[in-house]
Amino acid sequence: MPEYEIIIETQGLNNLKDHIKKVYPHQDLFIITDENVYKLYHKDMVEALEGYHASYVVVKPGEHSKSVEVYHQVIDTLIEKGIKRNHLIVAFGGGVVGDLAGYVAATLYRGISYIQIPTTLLAMVDSSIGSKVGIDLNQGKNLLGAFYPPKLTLINPQFLETLDERTYNNGLAEMIKAGLIRDKKLYQYLLDHERVTMKEIEMAIHVKREVVLVDPLDMGERMLLNFGHTFGHAIEKKHHYDTYLHGEAISYGMLMALQIGISIGKTDPSLYEEVKELLIQRKLVKEPLLDVNDYKDDILTDKKFYSDGLRFIIVSKPGHSEIIKLREGDLL
Ligand code: NAD
Repeated sequence: MPEYEIIIETQGLNNLKDHIKKVYPHQDLFIITDENVYKLYHKDMVEALEGYHASYVVVKPGEHSKSVEVYHQVIDTLIEKGIKRNHLIVAFGGGVVGDLAGYVAATLYRGISYIQIPTTLLAMVDSSIGSKVGIDLNQGKNLLGAFYPPKLTLINPQFLETLDERTYNNGLAEMIKAGLIRDKKLYQYLLDHERVTMKEIEMAIHVKREVVLVDPLDMGERMLLNFGHTFGHAIEKKHHYDTYLHGEAISYGMLMALQIGISIGKTDPSLYEEVKELLIQRKLVKEPLLDVNDYKDDILTDKKFYSDGLRFIIVSKPGHSEIIKLREGDLL
């Protein structure tokens, strides 16, 4: 899979034209965004892209925009607006927009170049890194997808200033996960601070990038990024994706995974208490916590995990994680 550049840009959208010029020689841009981001940043974008011919496709905010219906609508609009195979798509928004626009780019005319400009913390540290794009089916999330790297990803922390607290903290959950699996210093910082700086964002991106580089197509090592996600996905699904944000669901999932780690003698019990306290403080989980027993069956019946045993991610201590095979009896 080709390498692409991740640019950390602290000058707002000032240098956007220069960044685009490096990867795209033409003037037509097709910007896919959602209504919230459009309202907040459309004016800035118009100014930043003076001289370009930019067309906008604006979808509703939220997971529903990763549906087959919206995918079709976006494709129709792009074709109507005259998109050609050598044009450039700009995914400008959170993870929903990034996944949707990336999948449109991967599939329309068998592939159009695109760039990512993530505007949520989760999108900056997670969804815009690693080249996975996709949309949801009625049968489940992210079931239609591709590995399709953007020409570049532009991380601009200024977008974080307009995020509400819950959406911000949703991104923190993935950063806490990154710290726990691979970077003790990042985890330590997150224990002590409610807000992150560019430095921590870079640290979290580094964790994801390192793991993805050794396993771009998600066949082994990349599973480490799924710490907390086995139960997290079960929680999201059981609550129809509308009670818990992804970061909240994986926060409960991380606690369940730590409990399992303790029960099989791999995880230090004091880590569970520390992480629990942190997640409560960041309003990612609430007491009484969700009970692992309510989600066990969803995991056991998920055949995907059982072709050769349930692979599960354990964190033994901050920065140290491993993939293990769980037996049914290990599930507490
Ligand atoms: P999101 O895209 O729905 O954004 C959350 C909310 O924040 C939306 O209402 C959006 O309009 C708003 N918003 C975005 N930027 C803003 C800004 N700067 N200021 C104010 N409001 C802003 O959600 P998300 O958490 O960014 O992404 C979730 C999606 O990411 C899920 O669909 C998930 O499956 C996907 N994801 C993908 C990957 C991957 O590897 N491709 C990894 C993790 C998650």
